[in-house]
Amino acid sequence: MGQVLAVISGKGGTGKTTVSAGIAACLAAEGRRVLAIDLDIGLRNLDISLGMAESAPLSFGEVLSGAYDLEQIMPHPQIPNLYLLTAPVNQAPEEIDIAAFCAMMDRIRRRFDWCILDAPAGLGAGFTLATRPADRIIVVANADPASLRDGACVAGRLRSGAAEMKLVVNRVAPKAYRRMRTTIDDIMDGVGLPLLGMIPEDFNVTLAAARGVPLVLQTKRGAAAACLHIARRLEGRKMPLLRL
Ligand code: ADP
Ligand code: MG
Repeated sequence: MGQVLAVISGKGGTGKTTVSAGIAACLAAEGRRVLAIDLDIGLRNLDISLGMAESAPLSFGEVLSGAYDLEQIMPHPQIPNLYLLTAPVNQAPEEIDIAAFCAMMDRIRRRFDWCILDAPAGLGAGFTLATRPADRIIVVANADPASLRDGACVAGRLRSGAAEMKLVVNRVAPKAYRRMRTTIDDIMDGVGLPLLGMIPEDFNVTLAAARGVPLVLQTKRGAAAACLHIARRLEGRKMPLLRL
């Protein structure tokens, strides 16, 4: 049975989509069958981070409605085990039937090793779609106080649930941390979750998106290496924390 991993944060712009795309591509490159789903209805952009904006991917709404089935999802042009369902453009998140969505996730678990759900910011209907079916949850936070408070807020809401929840600190910048007198430990304390990984501030993230290629095909260093370490930890492998 595959696992469903929700990537969430309270605040927008912390890097959920970057982390979702990075982990999905790395798990697929490691030979796992991976389906990434963009739940950010209205502001979808996971297709860009995966370098699939030109491939006209199906939306999860088209599978949910029965118009298409899971076998019809197109694979990534360069990463054979990687599949994407984008967010529907003409449906409000509140209109999506959560029970039907969870039933679709059960079918997905039988066909894929991993399903990565890229959540929208906030605690609305898209957040529920991501977290309700999740077996595991990643909260993405940055060092800034608003991101920490919002991260702690979403983690607090979900703490009683069954899904395993861990923290990924994104945009780690040692020089800025020194000036802010903050550390990774402070961020873990602020959000109140154990650390799954840290991703450095890396210009390649923007460069890869501008070129329309997945980060891990753009470079093997920096943020891409950090995503690979996180993907391997998700698979239960012991990986050292990167020296940043
Ligand atoms: P979210 O999905 O949480 O809104 P995104 O993944 O879209 O966040 O990231 C927001 C912006 O930050 C994007 O422009 C992205 O390119 C940039 N970004 C994310 N992570 C990094 C990083 N590690 N280094 C540099 N830029 C980053
Ligand atoms: Mg996003």
